[in-house]
Amino acid sequence: MLSVKDLDLGCKTVFLRVDFNVPLDENGNIRNDARIRAALPTLEYLLDKGARVVAASHLGRPKGKVNPKLSLKPVAIRLAELIPQDVIFSPDCIGGQVDCLKQGLGCGHVLLLENLRFHAEEKENDFEFARALAWKIDYFVNDAFGTCHRAHTSVVAIAQFVKKAVAGFLVEKEVECMEGLIHAPEKPFTAILGGAKVSDKIPVIRNLIDKADDILIGGAMAYTFFQALGKDTGRSLVEQDKVELALSLLNEAKAKGVNFHLPQDHVIAESMTATAPSEILIDFPFPKDRMALDIGPRTVEAYGEIIQKSRTIFWNGPMGVFEINQFARGTDGVAAAVADSEAMSVVGGGDSVAALYKAGVQDRISHISTGGGASLEYLANETPPGSRPYRRNNMTLTNATPFIAGNWKMYKTVAEADELVAKLLAASADMMEAEVVVIPPFTALSKVNQTLCESPIQLGAQNMYWEDQGAFTGEISPPMLVEAGCQYVVIGHSERRQYFGETNETVNKKIKASLAHGLLPIMCLGESLQERENNETMAKVERQLSEGLAGLTPEQFSRVIIAYEPIWAIGTGLTATPEQAQDVHAFIRENLSENYGNTACSCAIILYGGSVKPANTFSLLKKEDINGALVGGAALESGSFIEIVKESIRAYKEK
Ligand code: PEP
Repeated sequence: MLSVKDLDLGCKTVFLRVDFNVPLDENGNIRNDARIRAALPTLEYLLDKGARVVAASHLGRPKGKVNPKLSLKPVAIRLAELIPQDVIFSPDCIGGQVDCLKQGLGCGHVLLLENLRFHAEEKENDFEFARALAWKIDYFVNDAFGTCHRAHTSVVAIAQFVKKAVAGFLVEKEVECMEGLIHAPEKPFTAILGGAKVSDKIPVIRNLIDKADDILIGGAMAYTFFQALGKDTGRSLVEQDKVELALSLLNEAKAKGVNFHLPQDHVIAESMTATAPSEILIDFPFPKDRMALDIGPRTVEAYGEIIQKSRTIFWNGPMGVFEINQFARGTDGVAAAVADSEAMSVVGGGDSVAALYKAGVQDRISHISTGGGASLEYLANETPPGSRPYRRNNMTLTNATPFIAGNWKMYKTVAEADELVAKLLAASADMMEAEVVVIPPFTALSKVNQTLCESPIQLGAQNMYWEDQGAFTGEISPPMLVEAGCQYVVIGHSERRQYFGETNETVNKKIKASLAHGLLPIMCLGESLQERENNETMAKVERQLSEGLAGLTPEQFSRVIIAYEPIWAIGTGLTATPEQAQDVHAFIRENLSENYGNTACSCAIILYGGSVKPANTFSLLKKEDINGALVGGAALESGSFIEIVKESIRAYKEK
C-alpha cells in the first residue's frame, strides 16, 4: 500500500479523508474527540511538509440533506484547539465557494469541508461527485479507517481523479494490525464476539473458525445459538431466520476443533430498563416473560480464564445491554480481563471501546481500532474497499509513457493466472516506466487483484455488459468489474465483434457504461484482410470511431484508450508493418481531433495490437503515433511480456 510518506508534498493540494464522526451530546458538543486526535499524526505530517490540506469527513446520518445539527463546524473549532494554527471551515464540500477556498489555501494550511453526507451522492460512490471533490486536488490520503468498509465516494471513487492515492498513518497502522491478526496470530488466539445479531457477524465467525482456538460469544446473539441447540430462551432476542445457520456454525466449529463458548449463566429481566428486577439464571428454560440482557458472573469468570491463557485476543461487541448499569457487568468484566491479559489485544466496535474507557483500562490494550465495522470486515477475510491499495492513478491518462496491456483471452486457470502475475510482479521494477495492465479471464480477476495488491500493475477485464444489474444471465456488469478490482475494460475486441455479434452500437453503450462507473475502456477497432485489400481500412476505422464514440463529451473521450488491431494480424503471426500501423494511428488521431480538439487528441493513447512480440515492439513503438500495445499471445508468458514492456520503454526513450 502506498503511504503518505511516498508523496512529494511541498505545496501540493491533498484531500485528506478523515473519520471525524465524533459523538455529540444533545447540545451539539463533542463528547469524545478521540477520532479527531487519531487523525493528527497524518494531518500534522502533511502540514509540516507544506501541503495544502483539504480535510473531509462525514458526521452522523443526515441522509443526503443539510442538517445543521450534524455540521462539522464544532469539529473545526475543536481541531483548531489541537493544532497550532487556524482551521478554515467551508460551508459545503463541493461547489464554487469551496473551489475558491481551495484555490486560496496557503501551503501548510488546512481547510475542513462541511459534512460529506449532506450530499446523497457521498454514499453512492458517485463518479461526478468524486470529480467535484477532487477538483484542484493533487493527492488523496485516506486516513479514515472507520469508513474503510464503505465503498463511498470520498473513500473509493475519488482515488481515480488524483495523481496518487495513498493511506495515512492511521489506516496503515490499522491495516498492519489486522494483517497480523489474520496471518500470524500468536496462539492461543481468542475471539470475543458480542452484540445483538448473529447476522452481523456470520462472515467473521466463519473465518475465525479457521483461525481462532476459542470463540467466546456474548450479547443477544448468543440466544440464536441457544435456540439452535433447542433451548427455551423465553423472550430473549432471537433471529429466527438465522437459527439454522447458527447450528451450522456450531457444527463447523466442532468439526474443526474450535472451542465455541456460549454463556453458562444469564442475567434475565422482564424488560430492558434500569429499574426492571433482574436475576441470574443458570438453567433453561427461561421463564416465558423474561429475556437475557447480560452474561452472568460464572460466564465472566470462565471467559476471564480463557482470556488469561490467550496470546492473541480480538474483541468486538458488548456482552449485554451495556448502556444500562445493571446489565453492564458482563461487558465490564470482559473489558477488565482483556486489559489484565498479557496477550496482544485488539478491540474494535463502539460499545466495547466505550467499555474500556469507562473502566479506564484503554491504555492497557495493544490496539484500539477506530473502525468496528471495518475491522470485522477485515477479519471476515475481506479487505475493506477503502483499505485496498489504491493503484497508480489511472484517470490522468497520459501518453508520456508507453502503455502495454496483456490480453490473456480465454486462457489460464486461476492458479495459472496467479502464477503469471506473480512472475510479472517480480519484474515490476523493470517496468516502472511503462503503464502495465493485465487482462485475465473473469474467473481470475479477484485472485489476480489480490496478488497485484501493492503493485503499480493494473487490472482490466475483457468485456462487460452495459446494464448495472438485472436478468441478463451470463453477463458481467460494470459494478461487478469495479468490485473485482478492475480499472480497465476491453470493449469491442475483434473476436467479440466476429463471434459474439458485438456492433458499433453495443460498443458505444458499453463505453458509456464503463465511463459512468469509473472504468477506463480500451476500445478496439480495425479492418479485415478483405477490407484492407479493398482499400477500405480508413473508411472502416472512421465508422467504428464515429459510431463507437457517438455522444461522448471531450472529457469522456479523454478517458478512452483506442486500440487499433487489424483483424488480419490478430493471433495470426502477421503484424502490420510499423509504417502501416503508423498510417492508421495518424489517421485516427487526426479524425478524433475534429471532434475533440487538438489537445485531447495529441494526449490520446492509441495502442497497436496484432501479433506484437518482443522482436517487433521497438520498431512499432518508435512510431510517432503509437503509444503502446495490446498484446495477446505474447502476454501469456511472463518472459515475452516483460521483454515487450522493456522494449516499449526503450523505444519511448529514443522517440
Ligand atoms: C489481442 O488479443 O488483442 C491480440 C492483439 O492478440 P495477438 O497479440 O495474439 O495477436
